Amino acid sequence: IENLRLEHSLSDVSFKTWILPLKVYDVIENTVYILVTLDGTGDYIDYIEKKYLLPFKVSIAEITGIEYDVKFIPDNPSELEKVEEIANAHRKKAAAHTKKNDNLLMIERANLNPRYTFDTFVVGKNNNFAHAASLAVAESPGEVYNPLFLYGGVGLGKTHLMHSIAHFILEKDPKKKVLYVTSEAFTNELIESLRSGKTGNELPMTAFREKYRNVDVLLIDDIQFIIGKESTQEEFFHTFNHLHVAGKQIIISSDKPPKDIETLEARLRTRFEWGLIADISAPDYETRMAILKKKIESDQLERYHIPEDVLQFIATNIKSNIRELEGSLNKLIALYKLKNEEINISLAAEALKDLISPDENRKITPELIIETVSEHFGISVSDLKSASRDAKTTNARHIAMYLCRAMTDTPLKTVGSLLGGRDHSTVKHGVDKMSKDMENNDSLKNTISIIQKKISPL
Ligand code: ADP
Ligand code: MG
Repeated sequence: IENLRLEHSLSDVSFKTWILPLKVYDVIENTVYILVTLDGTGDYIDYIEKKYLLPFKVSIAEITGIEYDVKFIPDNPSELEKVEEIANAHRKKAAAHTKKNDNLLMIERANLNPRYTFDTFVVGKNNNFAHAASLAVAESPGEVYNPLFLYGGVGLGKTHLMHSIAHFILEKDPKKKVLYVTSEAFTNELIESLRSGKTGNELPMTAFREKYRNVDVLLIDDIQFIIGKESTQEEFFHTFNHLHVAGKQIIISSDKPPKDIETLEARLRTRFEWGLIADISAPDYETRMAILKKKIESDQLERYHIPEDVLQFIATNIKSNIRELEGSLNKLIALYKLKNEEINISLAAEALKDLISPDENRKITPELIIETVSEHFGISVSDLKSASRDAKTTNARHIAMYLCRAMTDTPLKTVGSLLGGRDHSTVKHGVDKMSKDMENNDSLKNTISIIQKKISPL
C-alpha cells in the first residue's frame, strides 16, 4: 500500500487516516482485494470507494502495467469467507489449465526440427558471432545475454540456431520448460484467448499468460510479424518484463535489427537492446561449400558421388539464401533420378535454372505463392497438389488459391491446374471460403497477411 503513489495527491492526515490502514488481502485473477481495517467499516467503505477507487486502479496499473479491478472488503469473517471461496474456485480452475498447458509444452517441444542442431550448423565468418552467442545462451540460459536478439535475411539460419539452442538446453535438462513459438503462433493464440474470453470468462487469458510466463526459456521467431499489431505488442511487452525480471532467458529473431524496425514501439525497442544483438549475413563461398558438404553428409547423399566441380558450380551461383542452396542440391538429385543422366555441370545448370539471381525484383507468380505457402505450413508442394484432404493440407491449399487470386490475375482455371489439376469451381469455392472465413476469423487473417508479407515484403 505504501508503494502506491497516491500520497502525492493527498494531505498527510488523509493518507494516514484512509490509506495506511488498508492492506492488500489477495490478488485473484484480475482483481485486487483490499482489506479495510478501520472500525465502523461499513460506512467508510462507501466513502473510500467513492473517493479512492479510481486513484487506486490508476496507481496499480502504473506500477504493474496491468489494469486490475479493485475491490474493498470489510474486515469481517463472513465477507472474508466469500473472498476465500472465489480464491479457491479460481485456483482449482487454474490448476486444471496448468495441467493442460504442460501438455501443450510437450507438443511444442516435439515441434522442434530434429535436424536443426548445433552439430549440423556450419560456422563461417557470416554467422560465427551469432553462433557463439547462441551457444553461450544455451549453456547458461538467463545468465549471459538476455535477451539474445538474432537478425538476418531470409534463409540464413535464424530458425536453425533457435532450435539448436532449444535442443541443447533440453538435452542437458529435460525438465526445463523451453517454449519455441513463431510470432504468428503467439499472435493467433492471443487472438483466440481474447475471443473466447470475451463473454467475461477470463480463464483463456489467464491460461495464455500462465503458459507464457511459466517458462524458463522463451524463443520467439520472426518477431517482425507482430510489429504494428498493438495488442500483441502490448501483451508481448508484459510477457517480456515478467520473464526478464525473473531471470528467464528470452531469444528473439527478426529480419532486421531493432533500430531499423520503424514501427516498433520505443519501449520494446529499448528492451530488445538490453541484451546482445547478433547478426547473420550471407555466407561467403567457402561457407557455402562447407554447407553443401555438411548436407551431403547429414542427409547421406554420398552415394550419388556428386563431383566437386558440380558443388563449386552450385556454390558459385547460389549466394544469398541457404535454403535455396539446399534446395538446389535436392533438385539436382531429383533431376538425376528422373532422367537417369550423369550428374554434371549441365544437369546442375538445369537444376538451378529458376534459382539463379531470383532475389532482386522477384516477380509474384502463382508458383512463388504456392512455394511460399507450402514452406510456411511445412507441407511439401506435392502434398498441396495431391488429393489429400486432411485439415491442414486443405486449409493451406485454400490459402494458396486465395492468394493466387488476391495477388496475381491468374485465371481460376490456371490456378486449379497448378494445384494438381483441380477445376475452376473447386478453386472458386476455396477462394470464396477464405474470403468469408477471414471476415470473422482474426487469426486466419493474421496468418494470411504474414504469408502475404513473405511473398512480397513491401
Ligand atoms: P531463417 O530462419 O533465417 O529464414 P533457416 O534457419 O530456416 O533460416 O535456414 C534455412 C535452411 O538453411 C535450413 O534448412 C537450415 O538448416 C539451413 N542452414 C542455414 N544456416 C546454416 C548453417 N550455417 N549450416 C547448415 N545449415 C544451415
Ligand atoms: Mg526462420
